[in-house]
Amino acid sequence: MQLWLSISAVGVSGPAGYRGAILPRSSLSQRLALCLCAFLLLLAPSAAQAAAAISGIEIGASSVTLRFDQPVATASTFMLAAPQRIAVDLPGARMGRIAASGGLIAATRHGQYDPHTARVVFELNKPAVVSDASFSPDHLSLTLTLNPVSENLFTRAVRKGRRLFGLDDAKPVDARAPQRGGITVPLDPPKPLTVPPVTGARGTKRPLVVIDAGHGGHDPGSQSTDSSHKEKHVALAIAREIRDELVASGRVRVAMTRNDDRFLVLGERREIARRLKADLFISVHADSAVNTSARGASIYTLSEVASDRVAAQLAAKENRADILNGIDLGGENNEVSSILLDLAQRETMNISSQFATILQREMSPTIRFKDDAHRFAGLIVLKAPDVPSILLETGYISNNDDLALLLSKDYRRNIAVGVRKAVEIHFARRLAGE
Ligand code: ZN
Repeated sequence: MQLWLSISAVGVSGPAGYRGAILPRSSLSQRLALCLCAFLLLLAPSAAQAAAAISGIEIGASSVTLRFDQPVATASTFMLAAPQRIAVDLPGARMGRIAASGGLIAATRHGQYDPHTARVVFELNKPAVVSDASFSPDHLSLTLTLNPVSENLFTRAVRKGRRLFGLDDAKPVDARAPQRGGITVPLDPPKPLTVPPVTGARGTKRPLVVIDAGHGGHDPGSQSTDSSHKEKHVALAIAREIRDELVASGRVRVAMTRNDDRFLVLGERREIARRLKADLFISVHADSAVNTSARGASIYTLSEVASDRVAAQLAAKENRADILNGIDLGGENNEVSSILLDLAQRETMNISSQFATILQREMSPTIRFKDDAHRFAGLIVLKAPDVPSILLETGYISNNDDLALLLSKDYRRNIAVGVRKAVEIHFARRLAGE
């Protein structure tokens, strides 16, 4: 299992102590976690057994009941801030689809946190915490008791971390923080980061461009209106086209954050760029909108404040990839705010912005852009403080005309050529000290 802690563990700098405040770091608690994990493995249904499906979600005035078609042994809950959410992990269950809202719950989202664990995320209308949770005697349902609280108490609950339910339904194991009906345990250790190979021009003095194909694995990104085309595939195909064009130019070195259908959390993507000491990071995506007539490409760079409502919505959508995987967006948002005070970050943002301008200009002869095509948003994937980064939305997968373009070899090549020209101009200017 890999959790939101992976970001701090792969070495991204951020306000020290923020995550430390959430997690007890004593070796005692780590050993306790290991014990609990081993215990859970014994309790969890074996892999050979079919996973339980979530067969119903009932939302009451101050409760949420999850129903399963097979018994689920344990569950754990934790709170996430900005936006305020309650996450429920269900070992031995598979990802559900039921959308439910009402009362304190604004929306329900589902994800497969790992191959054996389903995650349900409830977006809240106002701050509320899980004050208790109990399984029915047959373990075919789990009822969470929700308690509306102040903003302060909600923040405190976020810091407390994960609470576990179903272990004998009683005895708190963590004696330091006994809580009725549940226990607080540390989150799991992160998995190590895999740094991808570098291709292209020889010699480490050549600038290095990292191409990031958005989404991947169990995160499909946006989809075409008939669901037959997924952003993760479109983004990877275009990212490869860009890589090939850059490699052929012989002027830069190139690496890809992913070159297959794998999932990476957003922090890992930018950390790959930092580990490789990249000079430029380009994240490739395809847009979507409820309004299926929306068309055109756009370029995003990092900003504390979104340039407009559309930019804010896009940040919420693109950042959501991590919500289902347990990344604490509340912490991320705080980091985005605090690093903006950093002068190095300001310089990086200026360079990113300049590159975005060149990129739009160089792509415009062959690629149609939206009005106000260069926008600003608090995108997590762009947050490396020392690597100029942009996010390129290559067109709308939700618009049939744009989709046909996104799937065509010519359009993909035109994008790649535009990026290559912009990259060449960008580095020539920087070498000249402009
Ligand atoms: Zn995307």
